[in-house]
Amino acid sequence: MLPVTRDEAQARLAAFLPHTASHYAKRRNYDYGPSAHDSVSRLSAALRRRTLCEDETISAVLGAHNFQAAEKFIQEVYWRTYWKGWLEMRPSIWADYRQKIAAGFVETEALMAAQEGRTGIACFDAWHQELLETNYLHNHARMWFASIWIHTLGLPWQAGADLFMHHLSDGDPASNTLGWRWVAGLQTRGKAYGARAENIEQFTNGRFAPYGELQEDVAALDGPENPPAMALRQAQQASGNKPLLVITPEDCHAESLTLPHQPVGVLSLPAGLAGARAAGVLAADERAMRDGCARAAAHYTLKDYSGISVENWEGDLQEIMTQSGADHIVMAFQPTGFWYDTLSAFSVPMTEILRPYDAQAWPYAKKGFFPFKEKIPHFIAAL
Ligand SMILES: Cc1cc2nc3c(=O)[nH]c(=O)nc-3n(C[C@H](O)[C@H](O)[C@H](O)COP(=O)(O)OP(=O)(O)OC[C@H]3O[C@@H](n4cnc5c(N)ncnc54)[C@H](O)[C@@H]3O)c2cc1C
Repeated sequence: MLPVTRDEAQARLAAFLPHTASHYAKRRNYDYGPSAHDSVSRLSAALRRRTLCEDETISAVLGAHNFQAAEKFIQEVYWRTYWKGWLEMRPSIWADYRQKIAAGFVETEALMAAQEGRTGIACFDAWHQELLETNYLHNHARMWFASIWIHTLGLPWQAGADLFMHHLSDGDPASNTLGWRWVAGLQTRGKAYGARAENIEQFTNGRFAPYGELQEDVAALDGPENPPAMALRQAQQASGNKPLLVITPEDCHAESLTLPHQPVGVLSLPAGLAGARAAGVLAADERAMRDGCARAAAHYTLKDYSGISVENWEGDLQEIMTQSGADHIVMAFQPTGFWYDTLSAFSVPMTEILRPYDAQAWPYAKKGFFPFKEKIPHFIAAL
């Protein structure tokens, strides 16, 4: 099982720390198959929910190695940060993607075969099975899978991204949507990613060798230019001094947020509010939020009011605010994605806390990853 709670994530980080330098740099591209992903950290489900935060992960790595030795691993963590900042400044990309999903797709036999993992391309069908069984795929498998979906099978990238969002435990609106757009050739304009049989054979250690089965000569999909970067959305600020602390899967480490007022209680929102996801993903969200609430309740000495229903969450939440004497909600900044979409329609005063780590890095995600990457030593100096 992927580490999700803070204890699980810290134990995994401690075990992987010795491997975050040359081992990771040399082995990270190898997909040795389910139950053998030891050359990568498998911390993504915890980082995505911030039961483990990026800054403390990087600090731990730098406690074990110098920057040059662990640069590759640190860069990968910053890819996550880069994608978050990039989407935050272009939320229309997320809105357009969600609109496409809402409109639905023509259910062709080819689409259904891919969605059900019965295309006859052995590697693709095996990754599909692994995704459904474990809620995880190695990064290289995600790239190959998306490339085969788009460029070999000719299917809409949004339908593939939706399959990933449904089943990936680390499913993230920024990393997933922009990862699929990158493979399609929409993100870095005109540059598509083509999965090659030789590369798959090498990096799966010979488990798969799909010679003659793939469209290797790929062309970028047509699409509009990327929208220009907008100003970052300002965190919401409510007046009042009696906040109810609310936890969502966007950030389950409330004890490291700088809260302006002592909360009057804490609660987690039901995982199902962010739309239909696989049972294992919803269970991981619930576990992370339960864990986050328990830690926040202990840290700030709070009553835990969790347990509201999906069906009547707004009414239940209003009721708990009255019961606890809260005059507003306080929560971590909700980045572009399902949780922001849901919560922005809820008319209760809210204060959001933007972490200094995000505030520092996101404004640099205006252009490509290369200029962003150059800033990493500067980001780290402030950690
Ligand atoms: C099509 C596609 C879809 C993806 N969807 C997601 C997603 O929904 N959620 C998600 O967290 N990642 C996504 N990724 C990025 C990457 O595949 C995963 O973050 C990584 O495989 C997680 O495994 P790990 O924790 O063992 O990674 P490690 O290699 O151990 O990396 C450490 C951490 O760095 C971050 N990271 C590593 N590689 C990337 C990357 N390429 N982009 C962004 N962050 C990265 C993750 O937080 C990861 O936990 C996607 C990539 C592609 C190509």
